[in-house]
Amino acid sequence: MMVQGIPWTWTLVKVETDEGLCGVGEAQLPLGVRDILGHIERIIVGKDPRQVVPLAQKISRSLSGAGSSGGSIVLALSGVELALWDLLGKITGQPLWQLLGGKYRDRIRIYADTGRPGDHSPEAYADGVRERVEAGYTVVKVDIDNSAPAAYRNDPHNRGLSRREVEFMSAVGHAAWEALPPEVDLCLDLHWCYQTADALRIARRLEDIDILWLEDPTPPENLEALKYVTDHTSVPIACGENHWMSHGLRPMVESRAADIITPDIPRFGGVQEGKKVAELCEQHYLSFAPHNICTPVGTVASAHVCANAPNFLALEHHGLDTPWWDDIAADWGGPVVDRGYITLPDRPGIGVALNEELLRAHLAPGEEWWD
Ligand code: MG
Repeated sequence: MMVQGIPWTWTLVKVETDEGLCGVGEAQLPLGVRDILGHIERIIVGKDPRQVVPLAQKISRSLSGAGSSGGSIVLALSGVELALWDLLGKITGQPLWQLLGGKYRDRIRIYADTGRPGDHSPEAYADGVRERVEAGYTVVKVDIDNSAPAAYRNDPHNRGLSRREVEFMSAVGHAAWEALPPEVDLCLDLHWCYQTADALRIARRLEDIDILWLEDPTPPENLEALKYVTDHTSVPIACGENHWMSHGLRPMVESRAADIITPDIPRFGGVQEGKKVAELCEQHYLSFAPHNICTPVGTVASAHVCANAPNFLALEHHGLDTPWWDDIAADWGGPVVDRGYITLPDRPGIGVALNEELLRAHLAPGEEWWD
């Protein structure tokens, strides 16, 4: 079922049992997912839903010829895997964090994306940061890629940066930094836009401020380029949201091509894959900071994985443009993200009951509620 948020279209996935229980998961992007879910349904119908990990492996292997190492196959798999964990929680009466082996913390530190202001000025970006601090966040992220006026760009078809762009992006980063009180951390995102040398020019211009991370400096396909940037700047580099499955992230972790690893759990393979990556990062003394743009279903599922990871740093929240985002969780008893934290629920499974009336009012065009 697709729900139209702002700006994202969210994909919720339901798995039902013949005993009347149901689990709800989320696949982070809708692209091609519905068709693949039909295939997955045929694979899992009639199976024991408590076999979450073997079932996920069966789905992955059954669809390997269609590309189950990445892309829409993995998106759909992630949604079903989350729903199976939710279902297992409901069958056993246990919250997801308990099923994963326990939690290191009760509250999950959430970081807020600040979006892009209408006008191109470092001051406007700083205002966005102040707004998030006032809302209680202790980590904020600013998108500095393409923040400069379009006229500053030398050539829209290449990955190079002009002097004026470098100057402007550095000014945005510094203005955001100046706007923060000392207890709040700053992350800056480059959205994999730039060539290696120019990404490094930006990173070096940020070395005089103590940011938590600079994200996705180079395109995702070339690990050596990412590692070159990481090796040649003192700024911590974060990467991972465009990589798939633990296999896809293993070389990044093992080569230390990034300092902070940022898989998207409802996109890149699900809860079990997230746990695997967190453990691999822990072995290499790297931080784990998942990317996330989901509804409360995918967000809280990610929070359970974060609770189970000793090396967890911060989890993204990118639903702030949707005023009714918190209301999607029907029985939460307050905002899901409260003053920059999610308190883990003790309810069975993921612990998010859907607000059916609200979601019915926001179904994507042509969508119907589950029958
Ligand atoms: Mg990002």
